[in-house]
Amino acid sequence: MIPSVMPTYARFDVVFERGEGPWLYAADGRRFLDFAAGIAVCSLGHCHPRLVAALKEQAEKVWHTSNLYRIAGQESLSQRLVELTFADTVFFGNSGAEANECAIKIARRYQFDKGRPERYRVVVMSTAFHGRTLATVAAGDQAKGKYGFGPETVGFDRVPFGDLDAAKAAVGPETAAILLEPVQGEGGMRAADFAYLRALRELADAEDILLMFDEVQCGVGRTGKLFAYEWSGVTPDVMTIAKGIGGGFPVGACLATERAAKAMVAGSHGSTFGGNPLAMAVGNAVLDEITAPGFLDRVNAIAAVLRDALAERVRRFPDLFEEVRGLGLMAGLKCRVVNTDVVNRLFEEGLLAVPAGDNVLRFVPPLIVGREDVEAAMAILDRVCETWRKNS
Ligand SMILES: *Cc1c(COP(=O)(O)O)cnc(C)c1O
Repeated sequence: MIPSVMPTYARFDVVFERGEGPWLYAADGRRFLDFAAGIAVCSLGHCHPRLVAALKEQAEKVWHTSNLYRIAGQESLSQRLVELTFADTVFFGNSGAEANECAIKIARRYQFDKGRPERYRVVVMSTAFHGRTLATVAAGDQAKGKYGFGPETVGFDRVPFGDLDAAKAAVGPETAAILLEPVQGEGGMRAADFAYLRALRELADAEDILLMFDEVQCGVGRTGKLFAYEWSGVTPDVMTIAKGIGGGFPVGACLATERAAKAMVAGSHGSTFGGNPLAMAVGNAVLDEITAPGFLDRVNAIAAVLRDALAERVRRFPDLFEEVRGLGLMAGLKCRVVNTDVVNRLFEEGLLAVPAGDNVLRFVPPLIVGREDVEAAMAILDRVCETWRKNS
């Protein structure tokens, strides 16, 4: 009999009842150190007092009004994002996939508005992940998300991630945009080369196509900058964010320059729930914390601690691990053993981590983790690795 919850996930047999900072407490009494953070979502850990207060305060005022009316939280959060980034304007949705749908629509509308409706295709990357709607599944390169869901949404041309010549060759008279993650998450925690991003920027400018960054996972402080693109010095025309900006409340956003989004007029796009007062109260509170003086310095410091610790495990357990991947607190260990087996054993020992593509073990802890949390996580990892060795 099919379970009442549609069985589209392979879930761990655990129910979490309560969370505090980087810790989760299960209904059966077990305690877990959370280096998964809801897959890079709980940027400030669980039940951060300022987020709880912001949500409670808004819950007692008004929850939802519809985008038929002005929403103060959208106006303040968008204004702040505009001041902090390359962008001039922001559309709010509820998820990463929706943010990417908006980006794809902006690219098509941009070209249409310029009298080039034949330019509708988007150059996308190998091992990319952009979500699970029909268009974002087609934009991504995850076979399991496509299987049995054909015909595939048209309009995407895939090239190898990091291969500039392939990108140049793929851009043609029907191209509207290039879409990529500056740091791939699901695909295996791969950071794009800065020179490659710069060259894509030049390519986009030369062809009058949009450069669009999916920062749903790598954005909002995760890499140690507010947005990952800042490391490269390359600014996109469009950028999507979600996961970290809501800290666990569903929020997605598509940021764009005025030039890219000027054809997105009233009636062209929308969302019932997108940017509702509850979501905006939390988003603003997350941004308060992450942009507070010293916050990102602490992220960079603890990221260095984590990455050094992981590098040490690569040296100590070369039979298990190959290299450290990613950027900042978006950290991965490329495994020589099956990554999901390691994740399962870490779970048994009380540490939550997430598998990623290319056999990578992913650590995306809350940005507020401390040195002692990293040490506790490494102690569990060591225990699992030593037991592994003994038994093999
Ligand atoms: C998680 C993720 C998405 C999809 O976000 P949803 O909220 O699940 O729709 C898109 N892009 C990237 C890079 C992601 O990591």
